[in-house]
Amino acid sequence: MKILVLNAGSSSQKSCLYEITEDTLPDHFLQLIWEAKVDWTHQQNVVELKVKTQGAILKEELEAMERSSIITHMLNTLWNGETQVIEKPSDVDGVGHRVVHGGEKYRQSVQITPEVKDAIAELSIFAPIHNPINLEGIEAIATVFGEVPQVAVFDTAFHAQLPLAATVYPIPYQWFEKGIRRYGFHGISHRYCADRAAQILERDLQELRLVTCHLGNGCSLAAIQNGHSIDTTMGFTPLEGLMMGSRSGSVDPGILIHLLRQEGFSADQLDEMLNKSSGLKGVSGVSADLRQILAAISENNAQAKLAFDVYIHRLRAQIGAMAASLKGLDVLVFTAGVGENSPEVRAAACEGFEFLGLRIDPEKNANSPKDQDISMPDSTIRVLVIQTQEDWAIAQECWQILR
Ligand code: ADP
Repeated sequence: MKILVLNAGSSSQKSCLYEITEDTLPDHFLQLIWEAKVDWTHQQNVVELKVKTQGAILKEELEAMERSSIITHMLNTLWNGETQVIEKPSDVDGVGHRVVHGGEKYRQSVQITPEVKDAIAELSIFAPIHNPINLEGIEAIATVFGEVPQVAVFDTAFHAQLPLAATVYPIPYQWFEKGIRRYGFHGISHRYCADRAAQILERDLQELRLVTCHLGNGCSLAAIQNGHSIDTTMGFTPLEGLMMGSRSGSVDPGILIHLLRQEGFSADQLDEMLNKSSGLKGVSGVSADLRQILAAISENNAQAKLAFDVYIHRLRAQIGAMAASLKGLDVLVFTAGVGENSPEVRAAACEGFEFLGLRIDPEKNANSPKDQDISMPDSTIRVLVIQTQEDWAIAQECWQILR
């Protein structure tokens, strides 16, 4: 079965085509036959398209145009030119979309119907950047592929079983009834990492208490017990919790009241400050990218060092909170851009838990091995680095629903 995945971000659009057959199942590399990425951040008014297949690489710069036209252009490379991997659009059997917000209604992946599309549109009030671009992707697929079945895989779904105590904000209850509650995000990645961790350790996931650390541009943790997320650091929006690349994470809400009253901030200014000008970027004044922070630290930039220290302080505090929700910890997983690639962050985060008997092997940690255990044999907690595979996880969900 050929499954196409669309994973839309605010400034990028990733897409993959997998050929899934029962006998090659857990090996996703065997099944990835085409991947494409469109990047809007590359240069002003220019969009960069990269396409890769097993035998060809295509790089193009396109004039900025509507997102749907770019998606159509990207999809055309599936059956045209050097990157051609199928004969015609109808060779694709199903399309899976990463949809950021599924609200309270969608606790599992679903096949997209007009009703599901309406619900995704209604939930745009909670995810104003992401849900509308997910809908655009769904429409673009319908235009190019006609009646092909489409599946929505929600980033919130894995957290649908959070206990009420981890869901309700301590504000008047009426707001909870109006949908202001903790939803949690990055669920596709947290679930994939939990499954993969159990596989790597050859243990039953049901027996493990895990904290998965998804540390990319956006950062969140999940506490996983019996295979479900029972606590997580992101909440009503992907702004809560850890310090991130350019997002603040949790701050005293009194600061917002102060800025509104004393500094005359508008809602848009608060949004811009907390989402785009805070986090590593805001504190360091250098960059949202950890690599540049580390480079600045090596040149004795004190603000960059401070940004790193705040990031680690908050990461340790939240790992501790997740472990307390689990009443113990068997496995700590690091994933996404920072989690997979930064030995500095992993070592500093783990140092906070040496008192529990957690010990990582410095040599293994330094190599940033993918999908491996980096803890010492006598460590009381296993520590894994896992390469997250969100697109593969979406393809699998889609395959389960459509086969
Ligand atoms: P997104 O959340 O957009 O999917 P990623 O998971 O790709 O992001 O993570 C991107 C971040 O990963 C970058 O901003 C950068 O800080 C970090 N990163 C990537 N490679 C490295 C590396 N070798 N060392 C430290 N940080 C890295």
